[in-house]
Amino acid sequence: MPPQALVLFSGGQDSTTCLAQALADYPGQVEAVGFNYGQLHHIELDQAAFLAQKAGVPFHVVDLRFLSAITSNALMDASIKIESLPGQLPSTFVEGRNVFFLSTAAVIAKQKGIRFLYTGVCETDYSGYPDCRENFIRSIEHTLSLAMDYPFTVVTPLMRLTKAETVVFMQKLGKLDWYAHTHTCYKGMRPACGQCPACVLRLKGFREAGIADPLAYMG
Ligand code: ZN
Repeated sequence: MPPQALVLFSGGQDSTTCLAQALADYPGQVEAVGFNYGQLHHIELDQAAFLAQKAGVPFHVVDLRFLSAITSNALMDASIKIESLPGQLPSTFVEGRNVFFLSTAAVIAKQKGIRFLYTGVCETDYSGYPDCRENFIRSIEHTLSLAMDYPFTVVTPLMRLTKAETVVFMQKLGKLDWYAHTHTCYKGMRPACGQCPACVLRLKGFREAGIADPLAYMG
């Protein structure tokens, strides 16, 4: 059967949940795409490849490292501190990332006859990233459809869920064990550090959901 859905897949908790949802929607008709954009920690793409294989999904990695030539941030430059200052975007924000990711995914998808692009963006636990908001997603869905004269739908299963609700959602999909292989830690540590903002947010979600995180942590 031809593929129906392409999942933007980073190997993180949210995109792994989207992969599970896409497979529930289109069993055996899902592919995934990951991006090397010059992130400091290659471990996330390694985990993504591992998870895609576990899920039986073809996984494509696209080189978008030109991003590191045009922008810098704490995810791509070790000398930039991870912080969120009042009135500013977080230092971990990668300018333009979801524009490039969704545009690249759309080009791949159209060639494969795929209409549905799945992405784990979420505006509920708003982390301050403008390209994770619903208005941006609807805008680029429209733009990409016009750009390629092709009816794309950007599917965002997590848009209205809190981190805790995402964990419960994954439990209902029956794939909670996949979280043991996801990567979240901003420091690229495995076992995860448990202390960086990404680890703290992740752990808070599990605590609120009353579900144990299967991921290994330091100490
Ligand atoms: Zn961490």
